[in-house]
Amino acid sequence: MNIPSELIAQLRAASHIAVFTGAGVSAESGIPTFRDAQTGIWANHSAAELSTRIAFRADPHRVWDWYQWFRGVMQKARPNAAHLALAALENMVEHVTVITQNIDGLHAAAGSTEVLELHGNIWGNVCFACRRPGPATDDPKANGPPKCLHCRGRMRPDVVWFGELLSQKLFDHATRMAKTADVMLVIGTSSLVEPAASLPRLARAAGRIVVNINPEATAHDAIAHHVLRGAAAVVVPALFAAAWPDRAA
Ligand code: NAD
Ligand code: ZN
Repeated sequence: MNIPSELIAQLRAASHIAVFTGAGVSAESGIPTFRDAQTGIWANHSAAELSTRIAFRADPHRVWDWYQWFRGVMQKARPNAAHLALAALENMVEHVTVITQNIDGLHAAAGSTEVLELHGNIWGNVCFACRRPGPATDDPKANGPPKCLHCRGRMRPDVVWFGELLSQKLFDHATRMAKTADVMLVIGTSSLVEPAASLPRLARAAGRIVVNINPEATAHDAIAHHVLRGAAAVVVPALFAAAWPDRAA
């Protein structure tokens, strides 16, 4: 893999690296991306269509069952070489912030210590009616959706659905990190989901170095200083091994 020497120097000089990840970073852990879903195993469901308030209101059981299936997939998934290399980056760089759109928890499972989960986490539940949190689901086979203990409303997964707002506090924090980190690594995101997709643009506008890692062309190519084409589990470890040949595993 051809890694520009300028990028190696920029990584070695960085004291703060922000990492912005999407579904692609977990693809090699066996969790399909929504894009894969349209052609692959989810061809009969629209994953994006099921992840909405409208879908839940119309048929809470259908949405709940689909999330239970997704939880089953995520329960079996393990961090891949990209997640592990990002966790090990904390040994090379003073400050690493991982900002993720993923709900699978694999960055924390790999050992990353500063993870901002912009879209929440698949295991949590919250009441659709009163928004109070309820017990997390640890059994992907449990039938549901359970009833809220406070208002008897229906519980739903505590993730951000299409059309819903992110936590403003969390997003403000992510924005600050994107604007102040020396380098932003954008990994495995199609960059279609706003407002999260604006973070690389904000980093670039603030004068930060932006690197886009993805097997396919995305909208971030246009604003990236460096584009590395390939699968995350191959490119990310190779990049860090090139930058820190003495330290990286
Ligand atoms: P997306 O499905 O829209 O795009 C995935 C991107 O990953 C694409 O650009 C694709 O080219 C790239 N990709 C595919 N294989 C890759 C690989 N091996 N290495 C690197 N990149 C690869 O995903 P998105 O942009 O993250 O947005 C979808 C939304 O759906 C997210 O906001 C997220 O909340 C949710 N989602 C989460 C998970 C998860 O938690 N693992 C999985 C699917 C969807
Ligand atoms: Zn309730």
